[in-house]
Amino acid sequence: MIIDTHSHLNFKAYDNDRDEVIKRTQKEGVVCIDVGTKYETSKRAVELAEKNENIYAAIGMHPIHIKTDLLKLKMDEDEGAFAPLGEEFDKTKYLELAKSKKVVAIGEIGLDYYYKPKTTAKLEQFKQKQKQVFIQQLELAQELNLPVIIHCRMAFKDLYEILKTKKLTGVIHCFTGNLEEAQQFMDLGFYLGINGIIFKLDLDEVIKKALLEKLLVETDCPYLTPPAEGKEKRNEPIFVKHIIQKIADLKGITFDEVALATTQNAQKLFGL
Ligand SMILES: [Zn+2]
Repeated sequence: MIIDTHSHLNFKAYDNDRDEVIKRTQKEGVVCIDVGTKYETSKRAVELAEKNENIYAAIGMHPIHIKTDLLKLKMDEDEGAFAPLGEEFDKTKYLELAKSKKVVAIGEIGLDYYYKPKTTAKLEQFKQKQKQVFIQQLELAQELNLPVIIHCRMAFKDLYEILKTKKLTGVIHCFTGNLEEAQQFMDLGFYLGINGIIFKLDLDEVIKKALLEKLLVETDCPYLTPPAEGKEKRNEPIFVKHIIQKIADLKGITFDEVALATTQNAQKLFGL
């Protein structure tokens, strides 16, 4: 068994052939955690998990969906027919979703300073709002005794400052930091989520030096397709094998060793 710890089969990108994709995933022995990004996608993740044995759900609100008028962003057609930056975090709605036994994490939640408002004052406000909603969701995870799946872009310093004050465990999904940052998060008890970004950015040093006991594999599908599957192609959970192979190559160990260890790590973290 292999566990894709971060997939988005709940997204619109799979509306035409979701059942076939899930069938392929099951056939190849891949279990996945389907990750929500706002209330609608979290709800859909729970529905998919309830219907399919090999799917678990994570629920939460991605920073890109936190309601603000400080900047404008385009809709992501692959995700769904809704504009970003439009949701007020409503804890009661997420608590309701969390009643499902298939909910194994709160995520994806975090900080994203990639898109920013034009003035420094607005940027500061934007960051404050993100931090505030992030902390509310960390507290939700603590209340429910669940791990967190964290999205972080250009915000590792602020992320670390917040996480070190909380007693929590989880994964820094799509990790793109340097070795020092990797070490800081691992020291806090967090795992690093490794996905197809490793074919775009150079994370070789981090992967070589990080303990195998601290790594999780993921696809972040429909995004970040490994180049071996073709650049234009939509990503899907079974392609997680390319991530495992690259980690194995970098560490000089076998595919099976990486598969076994990362599966055990995911089982331990998410209680699967
Ligand atoms: Zn994601």
